[in-house]
Amino acid sequence: APILHIVGGGMAGSEAAWQAANAGLDVVIHEMRPHVETFAHQTGHLAEMVCSNSFRSDDDEQNAVGLLHWEMRAAGGLIMQMADTHKLPAGGALAVDRDAFAAAVTERLHAHPRIRVETGEITSLPRDGHWIIATGPLTSGALAEAIRAETGAEALAFFDAIAPIVHYDSIDMSQAWMQSRYDKGDTEDERTAYLNCPMDRDQYEAFIDALLAADKTEFHAGETAGYFDGCLPIEVMAERGRETLRHGPMKPVGLTNPHAPDVKPHAVVQLRRDNKLGTLYNIVGFQTKMKYGAQADVFRTIPGLEDARFARLGGIHRNTFLNAPTLLDAQMRLRSAPHIRFAGQITGVEGYVESAAMGLLAARLAVAEIVGTALPPVPETSATGALVTHITGGAEAKTFQPMNVNFGLFPPVDLKGGRRNRPARYKAYTDRAKADWTDWLAAGDTGRAAAE
Ligand code: FAD
Repeated sequence: APILHIVGGGMAGSEAAWQAANAGLDVVIHEMRPHVETFAHQTGHLAEMVCSNSFRSDDDEQNAVGLLHWEMRAAGGLIMQMADTHKLPAGGALAVDRDAFAAAVTERLHAHPRIRVETGEITSLPRDGHWIIATGPLTSGALAEAIRAETGAEALAFFDAIAPIVHYDSIDMSQAWMQSRYDKGDTEDERTAYLNCPMDRDQYEAFIDALLAADKTEFHAGETAGYFDGCLPIEVMAERGRETLRHGPMKPVGLTNPHAPDVKPHAVVQLRRDNKLGTLYNIVGFQTKMKYGAQADVFRTIPGLEDARFARLGGIHRNTFLNAPTLLDAQMRLRSAPHIRFAGQITGVEGYVESAAMGLLAARLAVAEIVGTALPPVPETSATGALVTHITGGAEAKTFQPMNVNFGLFPPVDLKGGRRNRPARYKAYTDRAKADWTDWLAAGDTGRAAAE
């Protein structure tokens, strides 16, 4: 049988190996631990959860991450199977016993007759064969350098600096307005690129106080070593002087508030469209180390964002990731070296679940290509498809930052009652996703059976 090589036996690599081996390929997993360590991993297990032990919401009707669980279960995913076996009571969330979980994944993969695990660091890009690189946020330095040499320095980041992302339909447009600074751009696309929220002096001063008082997280020991290249958290800017933000990301120039054309705002918070669908906007320059609860409280004091729902909150972390919208094709292949696919967090998704899902998908795409079966495009109405469509093309490439799965990535559903009936809308998203994902899995099975 043809051999598929997988670099990295984390969330994505483990799932990819399972999928490919069960589809009849011989698989070699190249995993550097415990021979080479990272600052976050503690064991030599495959699929180690480096921080929290949560797979987040398990609600597959009202939550996009729960839907991703459903899709992976439907595809016979190993990560979900072992998470379900080793789950801990945690209300609506899927929490797992991390050691038992990782040990079980490791045991299953070692026991699989088509899988071999080789311990060792891969330090260069392979020239031929079939490969999936799933080395995660803490990709080893040598391999990261090799990837950088292939993709160019601009296209591989070592830190994410995530500004909070807001669902457009939760922004109060009776206070906010769309306009790019100095009215740059004449196309519809450019006119909807920016959204503005005005502040008067009192609101600005209160906002600075809230930033300074908010709870913050610290970098992990070893996390910043030699990498962090000066992307300042918003609260650090505020610490440098109360006016710093007003002269930086919150400067009020080149903008006129159509709701109050005669009043010059004291400061303006700008949001930039985050996806081509226009369903998501990120708050420009607002990367932060504030804790999640504090962020939601502070950002909801911004006029227009009182009822904001966040597709993801901000953060700054050590994270190796590609500019996937420019580097990867829809098949998750490196455009410049299509025998290499990427999967997991290095593709610009974020989280255990999203990473495992991208491993599952990359393997299925690789299998179809290697076995030579025609596979229809992944439905972008599924959670898996919405996520891969976002990273390989839907996201704005220039400002690309890692993404969690969320309903803002899905093509909208047409529903009476419109945006107000959120539960009905989410149910419509998940119903549509389940039907389309089921069809897609069946098409893959039929194709493979025919090829055999
Ligand atoms: P990983 O699971 O990291 O797997 C990559 C594997 O590749 C590792 O086993 C590594 O040893 C191996 N490897 C790296 N380089 C090489 C090489 N050159 N050769 C061979 N093997 C190599 N996500 C959450 O959902 N919740 C959290 O609480 C959370 N906390 C995090 C905290 C920290 C400090 C970090 C860094 C990340 C955190 N994440 C969290 C993100 C989390 O790491 C990912 O979501 C998930 O583990 C990514 O899966 P992956 O398979 O892409 O990478």
